[in-house]
Amino acid sequence: MLDNPKNDPDLDRDLRAVWHPCTQMKDHASIPPLLIERGEGIYLIDRDGKRYMDVISSWWVNLFGHNHPRLNAALKDQADRMAHVMFAGVTHSPAIDLACSLVDLTPSHLTRVFFSDNGSTSVEVALKMSLQYWQQTGQVERVRFIHLSGGYHGETLGALSVCGIDLFREKFEKVLMENIEVTGPDCFRCPYNLRPESCGAECFEPMEKTLAENAKTVAGVVIEPLVQGAAGMKMYPPVYLKKLEDACASTGAHTIYDEVAVAFGRTGALFVCGEHGLSPTFLCLSKGITSGYLPLAATLTSEEIFQAFYGEPSSMKLFIHSHSYTANPLACACANETITMLRENNFLETLQPKIKYLGEVGNRLRELEWCGEFRQTGMIAAMELVRDKKSREPFPPELRVGYRIYLEGLKRGVFMRPLGNVIYFIPPLIIMEKEIETMIDAADESIRAVLKK
Ligand SMILES: *Cc1c(COP(=O)(O)O)cnc(C)c1O
Repeated sequence: MLDNPKNDPDLDRDLRAVWHPCTQMKDHASIPPLLIERGEGIYLIDRDGKRYMDVISSWWVNLFGHNHPRLNAALKDQADRMAHVMFAGVTHSPAIDLACSLVDLTPSHLTRVFFSDNGSTSVEVALKMSLQYWQQTGQVERVRFIHLSGGYHGETLGALSVCGIDLFREKFEKVLMENIEVTGPDCFRCPYNLRPESCGAECFEPMEKTLAENAKTVAGVVIEPLVQGAAGMKMYPPVYLKKLEDACASTGAHTIYDEVAVAFGRTGALFVCGEHGLSPTFLCLSKGITSGYLPLAATLTSEEIFQAFYGEPSSMKLFIHSHSYTANPLACACANETITMLRENNFLETLQPKIKYLGEVGNRLRELEWCGEFRQTGMIAAMELVRDKKSREPFPPELRVGYRIYLEGLKRGVFMRPLGNVIYFIPPLIIMEKEIETMIDAADESIRAVLKK
C-alpha cells in the first residue's frame, strides 16, 4: 500500500495517478519522487525548501540552469505573440531564424533542417529520410541500418531498432526492424589492450567488415559521436569517426550522427562533427537545443538528400512525415536564445578552465578502491564502479549500487541518476568551479557511504 514518509497529500495523488518514465513504480511506494517546486540556476528546490544540485542537467537537457531570466523572457515574449501554429503551409520567424543559425553553425554541407519534437523523433526522421532517399534513387535494397553495441537513440520502435542496449530492446525484440549490430569501441575494457589517447581505433575492424559485407543493403550507420550516453557515458576517440566516414564514403552508406546528448557545448564545442571536421549525412539534435525549456528537435541533412525529394507533385517524392508540434514557436524562441547565449562573450572558451578543473577534482575519485575508471569528454564525466579494480569485475545489478548511491546523494543535496554502476556528471554548463568540487565531494561521500565495508 502507499506508504509515504513525507505525508504530503500531493505525493499520494501522484502515486494514484502518475506513471513515471523508466521507473519501477513500486520503488515509490517506499521512497516517493522528489516534489520539486522551483528551479534556480543549477539547483532544484523541493516543497520543503531543500536544494538539490542538478548534476545531470535534468536528463542532459539543461545548459544555462533553471529559471534563467533571458530564456524566461524569450519564452514570454513569444507566448505574447503566438504559442503554436501548424508548420505545413505555414512558417514563422522563430523557426526560420533557428534553421538559418543551425545551417550556419554546422558543417557547410548541412543545408536543410527538418524540425520535430524530441530526440527519438529526430532519429526517426533521419532513418526514414535515409530509407526514402534510397527508394527514390534506385537502390531499393538498401533497407537496413548498422548500429553499435551500447548505442542509444531513443525508445520509440524505430529508434529502438537501432539501439544496442538489451535493457531497452529485450521486451520488444520481436517487432523491431531487422538492423545490424556491430561491436563498438569499449575503451575501458579494450580487447586490444590499447589506450584511447594513442590507439588507431583498431576496434573499427568489425564495422569495416560488416559494411563491406553488406555494402548493397545498408542504408546507413547510426552512431553517437564520442560518448555513448545511455550505455554509461562510454567514451571513445574521434579516430573511430574518421574511419567510419571513410568506410561509409567508399560503400555509399549514409552516416547518421546522433548528437542529441553531446551537442551545444557538452564536449566543449557546439557540435562534435564541426569540432572534428566530420561530414555526417544526417545530424540529429535535441536535448540542449532549448536549454531544457521545451521539447524540440532538428534533423539536418545535405542538399543531395533534399534534392532527391524535390520534384513535381505528381512524382510523390515528398518526405511523408509530420508531427503536430513541428517547429513549435515557443520552443524555437528558446532555442534561438540558447544559441545566442552559447555564442556570445566567448562562452565556449569560458568552459575550458571548468573542463580542466573537472578533470582535476575528478581525479580524487580515482583513489576510491571501487573506481574502475574515471573518464571525461569536455563537461561530461563518469566513473565506472567495479567490485575489484584488478579484474574489473562489475557489481551485480541486484545490489542496486547505483540506486543506493542516488539515495545517499539526495541526503547530501546532489541529484544524480547513475546508469547501473556508472556514476556520471553532465552538469549545466554554467556550473562554477566551487560547485564542481561540491558535486565531486558529494559523489565521493555517497559512494563511500554505500560501499564501505
Ligand atoms: C536522449 C537521447 C535520445 C532520445 O531523446 P528523447 O528526447 O528522450 O526521445 C536519442 N539519442 C541520444 C543520443 C540521446 O541521448
